Amino acid sequence: MTDQFDDSARANARAERRGTALLWSPRALEHDTGGHPENPGRIRAIDAELSRTGLLAGRPDVPFAPAPLAAVERVHDPAYVAALREFARRGGGRLDADTIVRPESFDVALLAAGAGIAAVDAVLDGVAPRAFVLMRPPGHHATPTRGMGFCLFNSAAIAAEQARARGAARVFILDWDVHHGNGTQDAFWERGDVVLCSLHQWPLYPGTGAADERGAGVGRGATINIPLSPGSGDAAYLDAFAATVVPAIHAARPDLLVISAGFDAHAADPLANMRVTTEGFAALARQAVAVANDVCGGRVVALLEGGYDPEALAASVMAVIRVFDAPGEAPPGNDDKSRGENAARSETSA
Ligand SMILES: [Zn+2]
Repeated sequence: MTDQFDDSARANARAERRGTALLWSPRALEHDTGGHPENPGRIRAIDAELSRTGLLAGRPDVPFAPAPLAAVERVHDPAYVAALREFARRGGGRLDADTIVRPESFDVALLAAGAGIAAVDAVLDGVAPRAFVLMRPPGHHATPTRGMGFCLFNSAAIAAEQARARGAARVFILDWDVHHGNGTQDAFWERGDVVLCSLHQWPLYPGTGAADERGAGVGRGATINIPLSPGSGDAAYLDAFAATVVPAIHAARPDLLVISAGFDAHAADPLANMRVTTEGFAALARQAVAVANDVCGGRVVALLEGGYDPEALAASVMAVIRVFDAPGEAPPGNDDKSRGENAARSETSA
């Protein structure tokens, strides 16, 4: 399996390219939710920081298109997809108290899912070792039968299914968004071929994700929930990685690591109560890439989920991109590297 993916598409590699493909489109701004916390300003902040830091240059070009309905319907009930399309076409509104649909939202969500699919293809084809999808709306709360919690289509789940369709025997989804990835859990509850590990504040929306929710049938044990107390910071997350996440990824031996990368566990985030730092997210990314290097040729596809303080979000995304580009190096200009980060490096390398 691993060899099949490593052999292909080397012709696309360029000597001086950065390692990580970034998938972004201005159409992500068209899902205009106004003053909602999940608004286009999140992507604008990331885009501004990418420009300011020069991190955009020299990357592999990964074109993408709206996800084919057949790919979306690997995860979502066709009746939900059709109903959402009709809801948007009629002008939209609210799917629930939190989830806004605009006339453009169906197409934008389809494009976000398509970016995830293209990212998986690019990584499996060797175009880039890693990819980061910087689109919106987020996806991990969207269940097979309904959108909720700002999410319309579950792009991470659709990405995992794309990898399965491409021949990956097993996919591991690591969800470090501060909220439980309930939609992803529902999608793969009875599946052994897609493993979900979600770290989340508990209690918090959506209320699921207790440690005893472990999957069912052949999927028993392939859902791993790590609820963390409000106020948890870098040390708690790194402890959970060392105790549970990294061993679980080793045990699963996936062909691809998908990360539902939300940044709302950041200390500055207004929607939750965690204390993860920007450097802490870099440390989590470093751990993830290290274990991916051990088990799946370093192949990682990250998809943006939450993160509602634009400045903290943008800084954290940059920190993760830098780690994805050069996981063995300390971030440039980072003279006050956190102790957590040093601990992470000493635990994972060797
Ligand atoms: Zn979240």
